[in-house]
Amino acid sequence: MNYVRFRREGQVNYGILKEDKVSLIKGDVYGDYSIVDKVYDLTEVDLLPPCQPSKIVCVGLNYLDHAQELGMEIPKKPIIFLKPTSALVGPEDKIKHPRMSQQVDYEAELAIVIKERTKDVSSEEAKEHILGYTCFNDVTARDLQAEDGQWTRAKSFDTFAPVGPSIVSDIEGNNLKIELLKNGEVKQDSNTDQMIFTVEEIVSFVSQIMTLEAGDLITTGTPPGVGPVEKGDEVVVEIEKVGSLKNIII
Ligand code: MG
Repeated sequence: MNYVRFRREGQVNYGILKEDKVSLIKGDVYGDYSIVDKVYDLTEVDLLPPCQPSKIVCVGLNYLDHAQELGMEIPKKPIIFLKPTSALVGPEDKIKHPRMSQQVDYEAELAIVIKERTKDVSSEEAKEHILGYTCFNDVTARDLQAEDGQWTRAKSFDTFAPVGPSIVSDIEGNNLKIELLKNGEVKQDSNTDQMIFTVEEIVSFVSQIMTLEAGDLITTGTPPGVGPVEKGDEVVVEIEKVGSLKNIII
């Protein structure tokens, strides 16, 4: 399934996306829902972030090829940090380049959407707790990250968490082509099979620290090729089977 959240005529609803049509659903994508006999053209709706997380958990360095690029040691455990939900924006929304920063970077990432309240699960159990996957751009003020020595300011500006366009269920997360295109040019090009920690290992690890809720987002780190953006640039995170998330820098 391909779940979207959308606004139409002031109303926010969930739907199922198939090609360029959205079928309205009633109920809860995390529980019971039914498909209503109402279908909209994708052009008739505004897509919103596909979930409403209580938190966004991000994994730092998690790609072998990225670790090699940086000449860094392979981490023994996932390094995690949080992004505030106030940074969330949806597909086609604008990313605001803050005045405080001289270098804002894109980071294409695969994000996991949690299905239900999850605490202390093993890697084997983790799969049952994943609703699906979506595209995420872990936008980062790189200069402020270096200046502060910790990451909260650099990662937390409003609009620094573009996500979407949909939640794709019934796929495997650990072998997907992932790319970032800036103004149509491929800047990041890898595969989630390069991840040091698999999606199941990450969900298990985070669940041993904090209770995860339905709709929570866990993003899984970025491959090599991160780089800066300027005002006017278009950035697209493209992940095989998951979709394409486009945003413009202003
Ligand atoms: Mg990142």
